[in-house]
Amino acid sequence: MDKLSMNVQYVKGVGPKRASRLKKLNINTLEDLMYYIPREYEDRSRFINLREAPIGEKSSLKVRIVGPARIIRPRKNLSILKIPFQDESGHGFLVWFNQDYLKDRFKLGESYEVNGKINRVGTEYQIINPVFQREDLGNKVGRIIPLYSLTSGISNNEITKIVSNCLEEYLDFVPEILTDVTRKRYGLMDIKHAIRNIHFPQDAVSLKEARRRLIFQELLLLQLGLFIIKNKNMEDEMGIKFPKVNEMEKFIENLPFELTSAQYRVFQEIDEDMSGLKQMNRLVQGDVGSGKTVVAALAMFRAVKAGYQTTLMAPTEILAIQHFESLTELFKDYGIKCELLTGSLADKEKQVVLKELREGKIDVLIGTHAIIQENVEFQNLALVITDEQHRFGVRQRAILNQKGKKPDVLVMSATPIPRTLALILYGDLDISIIDELPPGRREIETYAVGPEYIPRINKFIEKQILEGRQAYIVCPLIEESEKLDLSSAEEIYEEFKNNTFKNYGVGLLHGKMSNREKDNIMNEFKEGQIDILVSTTVIEVGVNVPNSNIMVIYNAERFGLAQLHQLRGRVGRGKYQSYCILINNSKTKISRERMRILQNSSDGFIISEKDLELRGPGEFFGTRQHGVPELKIANLFRDMDILKLAQRESIDIINSDPNLNSLYNKGVREKVLNMFEAIGEDLILN
Ligand code: ADP
Ligand code: MG
Repeated sequence: MDKLSMNVQYVKGVGPKRASRLKKLNINTLEDLMYYIPREYEDRSRFINLREAPIGEKSSLKVRIVGPARIIRPRKNLSILKIPFQDESGHGFLVWFNQDYLKDRFKLGESYEVNGKINRVGTEYQIINPVFQREDLGNKVGRIIPLYSLTSGISNNEITKIVSNCLEEYLDFVPEILTDVTRKRYGLMDIKHAIRNIHFPQDAVSLKEARRRLIFQELLLLQLGLFIIKNKNMEDEMGIKFPKVNEMEKFIENLPFELTSAQYRVFQEIDEDMSGLKQMNRLVQGDVGSGKTVVAALAMFRAVKAGYQTTLMAPTEILAIQHFESLTELFKDYGIKCELLTGSLADKEKQVVLKELREGKIDVLIGTHAIIQENVEFQNLALVITDEQHRFGVRQRAILNQKGKKPDVLVMSATPIPRTLALILYGDLDISIIDELPPGRREIETYAVGPEYIPRINKFIEKQILEGRQAYIVCPLIEESEKLDLSSAEEIYEEFKNNTFKNYGVGLLHGKMSNREKDNIMNEFKEGQIDILVSTTVIEVGVNVPNSNIMVIYNAERFGLAQLHQLRGRVGRGKYQSYCILINNSKTKISRERMRILQNSSDGFIISEKDLELRGPGEFFGTRQHGVPELKIANLFRDMDILKLAQRESIDIINSDPNLNSLYNKGVREKVLNMFEAIGEDLILN
């Protein structure tokens, strides 16, 4: 049996009880333990003189005990142990609280290595609660110390000891899965060295090299797995070959506007996929307002005219309704029947829709998650589109795809991300980018201001309303909260309605309202009965009301940049000059920096890149939701440079050995399979 997959309880010092605690940290096997990467490190490697040690910070010192221990009891329940020492530069005391037993650990005249926080009381130097060891004996001081994420019942010292025991006994069994050629080409440390140094770094340089090696490996495996999934789709999934459709050109010509060349190009890419037998799996990325919907409509048109059904799934009801309305309008002269399916549909209506869908009487079904429910059956679904893909998980996408027989799949994402990252997150998809906005769009004027500007903003809103425009107000909360000092939609709504804007139409929209209520409000806003819509982020995606030209965001510091950019994208959709006002309640530098990025850029790709940089991908979008295995050490954004190298290498490997069958790739193959098995993804290799 493979030694490394042995249960961790066999490591010296573990046993069943500790093993069950380690399990909580997802450590089951020896290998898990070896790859349990420290969360951070404490550098205790450099020794320093007492006089040079910065007060208030932790330092490592070499000291000699120069007097007997003293214990002081200033009050009940408190005892202070003080042991006098000296080093080359001066005198001081090692100090502990309520740990009298330590007094016998030190011998007068002996030298020790200690690490602790340096304190100064009057002229007296103290080292508070230091860790210590006899000079040159032990590994607590004089080196870089790993700090692990812990769980109750296990201390950092214990894990450190367990890892150390594990490496001592089993590190030799760790196989090198990268070839010498690869390691040389990218200058990578060998695996045993890397594992040892990631836990117990010899020095800062070795730590860096160890990290680099392990990050490279992890990203390589990830990328290989994703390429394998993608190639599998390419080889096996024979889908539908759509015939050419005569009316296509007429449809394009009669659109209410001329396609941008980017829209046209992307549609051609889709069109080509649809013409082929291979199943289409394509991601369309485009900034807010780049006109993704009409591109989807073109594909739908072709599918329907070829005699098939098609469906479009949107993440919110508001968006689904809006798509339903605009598609119905686009298709109205072509004998195409559209229907809407959402959770709030009355049961009777719903039964009718389901029946007509089964019988093939509905050509285009637009809806929310309701579409993926079991009782929804199509007669011949051939094209499946999900809008605003970042809101859906891979699984939901998969369920939807199973509603047809190998339907072509189109995914539309409004969170543009750098290509390298897209390749990872959507490794199984081909990518098309709409990199151009329709003509005549004016830049949205964006201002970041403090809350003291609110009266002026309100005056400005009033002026715009008098000219016939409308405004969105977005707040981070629905209701007032005692804990958080944030603006709530209800609060502002009440204030506006009863006071500031009492002569105008003010509406409130948030996620806790019923779908029917949301619809009504949205309709009133569209029809102009509501001048000012106070809302939470439910309007973040897709909403399209060209007459509204002001977006005011309260507590803008609470939102991600990509999210703010999405919100801003709700305006600037008509012919009017539009404004986005970010009310920033935070005075921190980083928050000012974030606001500045939005003020200066209207390019969603740049903004999302910055957002990733500032927040990290974990928060940017749950990577797990995208069907990407959880990464233990690599960070998709921070490690972009290594990612590029790993991608290059994985392309080389896949090209020369697509099923990882060669002896060289045996180790890699096994690890890729394991990595994806962990997320329930069965990679098929021949
Ligand atoms: P998004 O990519 O954000 O989903 P939409 O598809 O909602 O963008 O399009 C935004 C607006 O731009 C819509 O009002 C749409 O009718 C309009 N639009 C799309 N393409 C064009 C074009 N080529 N010329 C002019 N307006 C367009
Ligand atoms: Mg859209």
